[in-house]
Amino acid sequence: MNSTLVTFPGGLTSGRSTIVEAVPAGERHGLVVSETPFHPLDHTWPDQPADRGTIGGLPVVDCLTGARSETGEIFLGPDIPARRGAEGWDWLVVHVTETPLPVGTEVALDVDAAFRAALCAGHTGCHLAALALNAALADRWRKEARPDSLGHPDFDQAAITSSRITPHGSVDVYRLGKSLRKKGFSAEDLDPGKLARQVNDQLAAWVAADAPVRVEVPGPALTARRTWHCSLPEGEASIPCGGTHVSRTGELAGLVVELSLDDATLTMRTGRAG
Ligand SMILES: [Zn+2]
Repeated sequence: MNSTLVTFPGGLTSGRSTIVEAVPAGERHGLVVSETPFHPLDHTWPDQPADRGTIGGLPVVDCLTGARSETGEIFLGPDIPARRGAEGWDWLVVHVTETPLPVGTEVALDVDAAFRAALCAGHTGCHLAALALNAALADRWRKEARPDSLGHPDFDQAAITSSRITPHGSVDVYRLGKSLRKKGFSAEDLDPGKLARQVNDQLAAWVAADAPVRVEVPGPALTARRTWHCSLPEGEASIPCGGTHVSRTGELAGLVVELSLDDATLTMRTGRAG
């Protein structure tokens, strides 16, 4: 049993490895190497898009998570019948190409570094915006709620339904329904414009603080339980995270959110001002 070793959590965008498996990916070819810098789309929480780049000089047209069962069967992306990192499975990074390459070939792996950097900015901004949103909504909780790492009730974790990272941005969707009300959250008279201004004031302060960001990596395998950390003036923030990040908040100049409320859905769009 062997899961793919990954170097993207440390920020790498290139490497060399050997093709250890070739699996059909529809009409295309899924190539697995022993170690890769490519970040694949996660099948359980598909927030950060797959990296782009080349393998053995061939364009990587998609990069998926794969899971190999104890009997050796390989499932790809949404077809995987187990949760991320479940025991008894090998977790694989599957580089999808239009042209096959034989198992045993040594290849260069090169990630599109500019696209990756834009996703890193989007992902770090997404986490900071979630923490700032939690802080801005803290006084709306009537019951004790699970706190985030800065001690505010974790609205983000309690209400999020989807999160999508984009180059330099993200879109997070929150459900303000009955179950959140039962947990003690009041959405009464919520003014998205006013809330966005509060969040943006906090984000501007955190960008100005130029706080260091790092990813804690307990092991080299794809599904190791990694944690995002940011040493903010208020304290050490941390969030479980499988993605990639910038190294300082100062790289996110102009980070702002827009909030919209539609029925019982709050949507937070994070991006760069202007
Ligand atoms: Zn994350």
